[in-house]
Amino acid sequence: MRVLHVAAEIFPLVKTGGLADVLGALPQALIGQGADARLLLPGLPAIVDAVSHQKVVFEIGPCFGAARVTLRLGRMPYSKVPAYVVDAPHLYRRPGSPYQASDGSEWPDNAQRFALLGWVGAHLASGELDPAWMPQVLHAHDWHAAMSCAYLAAHPPATVATVFTVHNLAYQGLFPSGDFALLGLPARFMAPSGLEFHNQLSFMKAGLKFAQHVTTVSPTYAKEIATHEFGFGLDGVIRGRGADVSGVLNGVDGTIWDPATDTGLAARYSADQLAGKARCKQALQAELGLAARADAPVFGVVSRLTSQKGLDLVLAALPGLLQRGAQLALQGAGDPALESAFVAVAKANPGKAAVRIGYDEAFAHRLIAGADAILVPSRFEPCGLTQLYGLRYGTLPVVRRVGGLADTVVDSTESALHEDRATGFTFDAATPAALDAAIQRAIDTHAQPERWRQLMRRAMAQDFSWAGAAQKYMALYDELASRQASLR
Ligand code: ADP
Repeated sequence: MRVLHVAAEIFPLVKTGGLADVLGALPQALIGQGADARLLLPGLPAIVDAVSHQKVVFEIGPCFGAARVTLRLGRMPYSKVPAYVVDAPHLYRRPGSPYQASDGSEWPDNAQRFALLGWVGAHLASGELDPAWMPQVLHAHDWHAAMSCAYLAAHPPATVATVFTVHNLAYQGLFPSGDFALLGLPARFMAPSGLEFHNQLSFMKAGLKFAQHVTTVSPTYAKEIATHEFGFGLDGVIRGRGADVSGVLNGVDGTIWDPATDTGLAARYSADQLAGKARCKQALQAELGLAARADAPVFGVVSRLTSQKGLDLVLAALPGLLQRGAQLALQGAGDPALESAFVAVAKANPGKAAVRIGYDEAFAHRLIAGADAILVPSRFEPCGLTQLYGLRYGTLPVVRRVGGLADTVVDSTESALHEDRATGFTFDAATPAALDAAIQRAIDTHAQPERWRQLMRRAMAQDFSWAGAAQKYMALYDELASRQASLR
């Protein structure tokens, strides 16, 4: 099965969130299942500089406002997965985030930047750019890659099957309707049945409308996005796709996230050998200036600081958490108001609450290993990776029961504990009181070491491997490709 993954981020080169982790792991897992998987990435500086053995595949010439566009094929530096790179220096070679300038404003030419990515994806998929390799399935990720589905729909008959994965419906790639003229698509695409969304141009809709199948990164989120509450105005479009929408839960890359082999930790540990976790906790408390107390449960947070993640709830619940003798260790960056609120809390509570503003992959590992519990009180959560890392590291998740959080954490109810199924603590309402009650239950349970260890062992035994997710994608690809072949 030949599959082309089109995306704007890939761990460890370019990462703003979980999307990058998925692209860093899924193609390799598919190769492990026998697939011939390749990547198509924009030539952002970190990507152009790192992809090895690049050879020119096609000189595309000037397009989408770029004077020169070259398609090259090389290999990812660590995984060796083959990767096509769209080198368009004028559009992609700039510092900072893939989507925003350093002042936080969106790059003004994002419509052209990501239309080009989609255009190349579509033409690669229809065999026009690399005669030596043509995918059977094009798999586009989030709005950045969604236009490939529209370009393929504009030039039938396409023999390639298409899958579009929504990693986060909140980010839709909306542009002024006037930008439609830049896309080179027939006028009929600028209609409510196409890319038009309330008089704007929506790249997300290109994927939702024109992909043969739409997936999201958890089964519960697949159901939620068809509702008004979670649909961000696109729930009608999603309901319109009926059974063409499904959820495949993300996995965890066990070569990166495994406490038994994680060389960045103060000590390594496993479900059978938990002593190392206590050392990681001591090390974290020392590193952050938290009181060196083994009995104080440490609640960790590793997160983008946005309203999606519900961290205002953590701020509101914090006085109760600290009063009960627990500690907070937070690592995050984002909304300046949330950043300064957390910094102020840490200043006011030395030894009890520690906050690090910024993005630091290595510290995220130390924090997740050293904390007792990880807080993920999201308002919505397509899949969520930090709770999965928490489970794997025996750091019990305290999560709101939405999206992928609902699919991956089993609440410590009496019956779940009795049946040895419980892996964490969940709550329903997006209110400080509901989070506070879950934190209280976690603190009470932490005071019963035997019970806490039972939960840790059950959490660490969960299998969220990429191999399992890759098998599900392979089954989907097989089904779509054979349906597509029967149309020929
Ligand atoms: P989202 O993609 O919505 O941000 P996920 O939980 O799916 O949320 O993925 C977030 C990823 O980014 C995880 O790998 C998490 O460890 C990482 N991450 C988020 N914030 C930080 C940070 N400040 N420092 C290091 N890693 C972070």
